[in-house]
Amino acid sequence: MNQIRKTAFGYSTQCNIKCDHCVAADDDYKHEKMDLVRARGIIDEMAGANVKAISFTVGEPLIFLNDILSLVRLCKKYGIYSRVVTNGFWAKTPALTDNIVSELKISGLSQLRLSYSRWHQAHVNQENILNAAQSCQKFSLDYFISFVTDFSDEDDSFEQYLIDNQVKYFPEPLLYFGRAGGFTRSQALTDYPPHLCDMNPILTPSLDMYACCDAQNRFAETDFFFLGNVKIFSINELFKKYEENPFFKLIKTVGLSKLATLAGFKATEIVKYRKCELCEKLFNSSENLQFLKTAAESKQGVWKR
Ligand code: SF4
Ligand code: SF4
Repeated sequence: MNQIRKTAFGYSTQCNIKCDHCVAADDDYKHEKMDLVRARGIIDEMAGANVKAISFTVGEPLIFLNDILSLVRLCKKYGIYSRVVTNGFWAKTPALTDNIVSELKISGLSQLRLSYSRWHQAHVNQENILNAAQSCQKFSLDYFISFVTDFSDEDDSFEQYLIDNQVKYFPEPLLYFGRAGGFTRSQALTDYPPHLCDMNPILTPSLDMYACCDAQNRFAETDFFFLGNVKIFSINELFKKYEENPFFKLIKTVGLSKLATLAGFKATEIVKYRKCELCEKLFNSSENLQFLKTAAESKQGVWKR
């Protein structure tokens, strides 16, 4: 499989707000930040390893606006697609917003992704998101709003605000990881989804690389997604590990629902899990992992039907 190399880049875990649903933060979470010179060196190395897209995410990247601008400029120099994911705290007035969005655009940012939800908006005014979206339109900077939802009625008015203001948004399911781990699940009204997953790798401020940016170290029993540390492995070696892992290929192409059947889960059980929860059930269990490994080795072709 020929894959385009892309990664989430966690420059810092620091955030200026504390959303109740945050996947990136448990209560005992410790804040880390990468050294700027080191971060630039890693992007140099990524360019050499043919990485084509970098998404600056984790925490709130624009707390470190000047550092991120410098990293975005470096991406531009190498022709790497760059994205910044932000909660929009800085977009307090149209004038302030225009200043920052124009700087991001001039520096070469490819896309701004604005996080929005009833949990974010307990800390950041809805108008900030509108200011940021409208400023992106004004400066022709590609953007979209990531509307995180648990699909409950409570979210309707938040979505209506986006519809009324004619901004570009896409719903994104709430992940029941981190602080959201204890939330009550709303009933999911859907049929039997294949649960394929694109799996974006992520580099953390401590220079660990994981195969999935949403899971990271949440799979502590098996360390299933951990690829290694940049101090030990080259960027090219870490991407190779990611690209050559047979299970990661199966998650992308066969999907978690079929893998769960092969691991012995009944259909009535599979439909009870959301995608990431099913992934955790399957791969954060040494027993299931061993079972799947044995099945993969002994039943060639069983993955297709
Ligand atoms: S803005 Fe993002 S990183 Fe910050 S607390 Fe909210 S969900 Fe977490
Ligand atoms: S399904 Fe698994 S690989 Fe995909 S985002 Fe969820 S935890 Fe990560």
